[in-house]
Parts: sequence; structure tokens; C-alpha cells
Amino acid sequence: MVNTTEKGNTNKIELIQVEPEVKVKGFIPENLSKITLTSELSEIQSRIIRLKSGDKYLSLSEKDKNIVSKFELGFEKISKQELLADDEIILSGHELVEFSNTLDEDVFRYLIYRYKYNLYPKLKIVDDYPPCVQIEPVSTCNFRCVFCFQTDASFNQKKNGHMGRMDLGLFKETIDELEGNVEAITLASRGEPLLHKNFGEMLEYMNGKFLAVKINSNASLLTEKLIHTVLSNDVQTMVFSIDAADKDLYEKLRVGGNFETTLGNVKNYQKIKSESYPNSNIITRISGVKVNEMQKMDEMVDLWKPYADLVAFTNYSPWISSYDNPVNEIEAPCTELWRRIFVWWDGRVNPCDYDYKSYLSEWDMKDNNISEIWNSDNYNDMREMHLNSKRSNLNPCRSCIST
Ligand code: SF4
Repeated sequence: MVNTTEKGNTNKIELIQVEPEVKVKGFIPENLSKITLTSELSEIQSRIIRLKSGDKYLSLSEKDKNIVSKFELGFEKISKQELLADDEIILSGHELVEFSNTLDEDVFRYLIYRYKYNLYPKLKIVDDYPPCVQIEPVSTCNFRCVFCFQTDASFNQKKNGHMGRMDLGLFKETIDELEGNVEAITLASRGEPLLHKNFGEMLEYMNGKFLAVKINSNASLLTEKLIHTVLSNDVQTMVFSIDAADKDLYEKLRVGGNFETTLGNVKNYQKIKSESYPNSNIITRISGVKVNEMQKMDEMVDLWKPYADLVAFTNYSPWISSYDNPVNEIEAPCTELWRRIFVWWDGRVNPCDYDYKSYLSEWDMKDNNISEIWNSDNYNDMREMHLNSKRSNLNPCRSCIST
């Protein structure tokens, strides 16, 4: 049983045993020298060189050509076992799969997007648009996972005004602005996106406009119809949020979930994918939140790998009590402020979902568009505070462990 309070969720939950002190994203530079130029990396290098003589490359701006050159330098240095400079890059991990799924005509778009996504937060570059936008179709959820802010009554009760579904008109306006300016759109944030009754229309409206459309879902509502909806549209990554390989632990963590239903839905998704969409390039990921030593990666892989391309755990950040966590001494700037922005169902724009009740937000799509918000004085003031080791002036940044 999960204990919650009107104010927050600070009561001890036995199942949450992990107590992270800092959440770091991206490469650890010390490890880069250990990367060797595998045949996969060497193929990427050759593909870039080959495509550089084509029209797509020749029509790039000087700024974008410079980004491509940072990959070339990166691959060259890795081949010599040298460390990369801060502004040099190679592809790694899931990017290798994504790159091999990318059409020749989109290769430079992909590289430029990954560069911005990975390095702008590190180099503290603010472009016209964020590298990624997360759009929340709904804030409601049918689960009450023990580690999630959905257990906070001051958030989940309708009377408090945080619950709702995005109007299709607002969704389309947002997509219209982002098309051609942003490559990565994630449909999800605080709620379960498949609860939106127009979810299929949303996907259809996005078709052909972005390189990296991702959906995060708990897989509980994945009917056959919805599976076809996902697989027949232009979705690059489907993430199923699943944290355990056995019924008992799964249902204790994902309160409201039923293990057999989730497993059955994921199996059905895989079956329909292989039977009806054999040429689909969609990447399917099972992604759990690591909160507990009972969650074993080898068991996760044994059970879920037949139905997914990747099985992974993400590090836990205590979202369950964002506003009640102790103030910490972290001074490093949070990379989210240079990587992503969140558009919530009601048009409110927020820098992250750790701040799930929008204490940080001064922005609304009714007043400004995303580019204006991303480049606004008050957004830059927030970045400045982080850069000047003053994130402790911001609630909840002062108690958040993201860097
Ligand atoms: S609360 Fe602040 S530090 Fe934490 S993720 Fe959000 S912006 Fe970053």
C-alpha cells in the first residue's frame, strides 16, 4: 500500500531502496578513449564520407556543415584512440540502430539533431528551438506507480486543476510550429498518452514531419487497434515502461497494473509487428525505473528481450516527492534547460517533469510560441542561475538531483 499525504509523498515506501545522490546524463568523457573503431562505427564514417558529395550535404548551411565535421573529427580520433574535444562527437548505443534505420536523404538531419541533443546541453548553446520537445497528450494515468508523482493527491485530484487532456487544436498548432524546427518529439510526460481518445489522429498529423517520434506508454491499454495505429504511423521509438520480470514485483511497483495484461499486450504488439509490419524500422524498448535491488537486469532481459530491441533501466530520480526532498548541494547546471522543453495538455510550458506541478513555469502557449519561450529572458534567467551555481534559489531545482 502506498502512503501519500495531501502535501506530498515523503512517507517511506519500502519498495524504493535506491537513494541516488546525483543523476548524470550522457557520456562520461573518461570512457571515450576506451571506445575502439568497430566495423559498425567505421561503416558510419564511410557513409558520411560517401554522402558528402550529394545534394543534401551541399545544401546545408555552414553552421550545419561544421556540425557534420565534428562527427568526422570524432570518428577519426576514436580510430586513433584519442580523447574527443568537448565539441566533438560520435554515435553510440541506440544511436547506432537509429542511424542504420535512417534513410540516406535524412542522414545529415539525423547527425545534426543528435549533435544538438547531446552537445548543446554540454556546450550551453541555446538555439532558436530546443533539440527535443515533449508533448503531453494527457496528464492523467491509470496507474499509481510507487515511485511516481501520480501518487501525490495534491496533483492527481481533479479539483487541483492539474488533470486533463490536450485539445486537438492546440496539439496541431504545436506541431505546426515545430515542423522543420525540431526533429525529436516525445508523446508523453506526466500521464499515460494512450488514454487520449484522439491519439491516432495525433500520430497521423505528425506523419513525415519529424525524425524521432517517440511514445512512452505503460502498455496496459495497448489494444489491437492501438497497436496498428502505432505501427502504421511514422513512429521511430516505442518505449514500454516496465520495471520487473515477475508478477509480484511488477504489480507492487506498477500499482494498478496487471502483469499478465502487460505481458500479453507486449507479446501481441510484437506478433502484429512481425506479421503485419515486417519492414517496420520502429525501435521497441522496454525501459524500467531502477528503484530496487530486487529488479534484476538479467531476468528483465530473459523475459522481455524476445519482444523488444532494447531492455534498459533508467536511474531513479525521486519524482515522488519533488517538493519535499531535502535541499542538496549540487551546483552543476541541469542539462534539461538546454535539451528539452515540455508542453503540457493545457498549453503550459515547463522545463521538466520533475517539477510536475509547474512551480518553475512562467510560460503558456496561449501567450508565446515555443521558440519565444525557449529564448525568453525569464528562461535565460533560470539558465543563468544554474550556470552561476545558484540553482538553490529555484524550487524544486534546489532539491533535484538532475545535472
Ligand atoms: S527541477 Fe530544475 S534541476 Fe531538476 S530537472 Fe527540472 S530544471 Fe532540472
